Amino acid sequence: MVKDMKYYQSLGVEADATEAQLKKAYRLNALKYHPDKNPSPEAAEKFKELSHAYEILSDPQKRQVYDQYGEEGLSGAGADMGMSAEDLFSQFFGGMGGMGGMFGGGGSMQQQGPKRSRDIVHVHKVSLEDLYKGKTSKLALQKTVVCGKCNGIGGKEGSVTKCKGCGGAGMKTMMRQMGPMIQRFQTVCPDCNGEKEIIKEKDKCKACQGKKTVFERKVIHVPVDKGMKDGQRITFQGEGDAGPDIIPGDVIFVIEQKPHARFQRKDDNLFYKAEIDLLTALAGGTIAIEHLDERWLQVQILPGEVISPGELKIVRGQGMPSYRHHDYGDMFIQFEIKFPPKHFADEDVILKLNEILPPRPASEIPADAMVDDVNVEELDAQAQARAVNGPMDEDDDEHPGHERVQCASQ
Ligand SMILES: [Zn+2]
Ligand SMILES: [Zn+2]
Repeated sequence: MVKDMKYYQSLGVEADATEAQLKKAYRLNALKYHPDKNPSPEAAEKFKELSHAYEILSDPQKRQVYDQYGEEGLSGAGADMGMSAEDLFSQFFGGMGGMGGMFGGGGSMQQQGPKRSRDIVHVHKVSLEDLYKGKTSKLALQKTVVCGKCNGIGGKEGSVTKCKGCGGAGMKTMMRQMGPMIQRFQTVCPDCNGEKEIIKEKDKCKACQGKKTVFERKVIHVPVDKGMKDGQRITFQGEGDAGPDIIPGDVIFVIEQKPHARFQRKDDNLFYKAEIDLLTALAGGTIAIEHLDERWLQVQILPGEVISPGELKIVRGQGMPSYRHHDYGDMFIQFEIKFPPKHFADEDVILKLNEILPPRPASEIPADAMVDDVNVEELDAQAQARAVNGPMDEDDDEHPGHERVQCASQ
């Protein structure tokens, strides 16, 4: 289920596009709308749009968040730290080898200095109880850190030398004969695999095998505050993957509220469906509601008050706490009336009911109308469902596309 199709539409792909399809769509469109190729302001806008869309959708974690929560899920801390369209473009085409600088002299390949690692986004599922009371979740995180054994050098001091194959650039210009043409193209240096440096096998740090970084398991205490809502983000700045020349990105937890068996939440209000029996509805009684903390709420139905099916009542201050201020919303109780079982009353009881309950309304049929007496028959539950919903089962498989469209627009 995809909440918002915008990014997919920017790239002109379906919601279930594979990584390869996304890549292809980005490549075609980026080349078409690149400012060097198409200087109109509309193209520049389109170029920006599709670049942003690709940046999000090509990151599986961000794509998951986007699919579930739309753009809103991605907004907030860290969202504006994304790459510029131009950087993404040069990284994309530079990384493929051969197409870098294809518009010549753009200067976008010259980008230097430390890179920022991508944000790590986790969906954190939280029960309504925990959002009511607040809690601290301990979550274990796998992340890359600078190797402590070699301090990020990769080997013994002085064992690291600049790669001779590429002069420390990590990339190499190669030439290839293509018929009568000689094509020059850039590729990742095969000597150092783009690492720009060479470490002799025997000098490599044992802890990181010369990679300069190691995996570390870190436990993060995530404060889930009272009143937090579905889609809300908790950001740990700089807790992302680290490395010798990398500015760590953020670790972001996106709250996902688990469905609850008893309550529906709308902002700071709770909705509860209470099924009461006919006697309680007419003659009063008490109902009990198990709250989200250890309490039970006892609600009085006054004798003679008469509760109708679907009636809504409010219990003030028993909803969810608001975020930050912790002011409590309200609890709404919607009543459903459970009628007695069929044929519960014998003749005596029916006579009594005739005495007790308000009289039947008079017939609405005009005095001069022609009247037909008809039989009314019972329907079992299945037949009732079919009559109301139509013959759904047979149709289900025939229009899978139709259902997908419905989901996407919800
Ligand atoms: Zn090391
Ligand atoms: Zn090299």
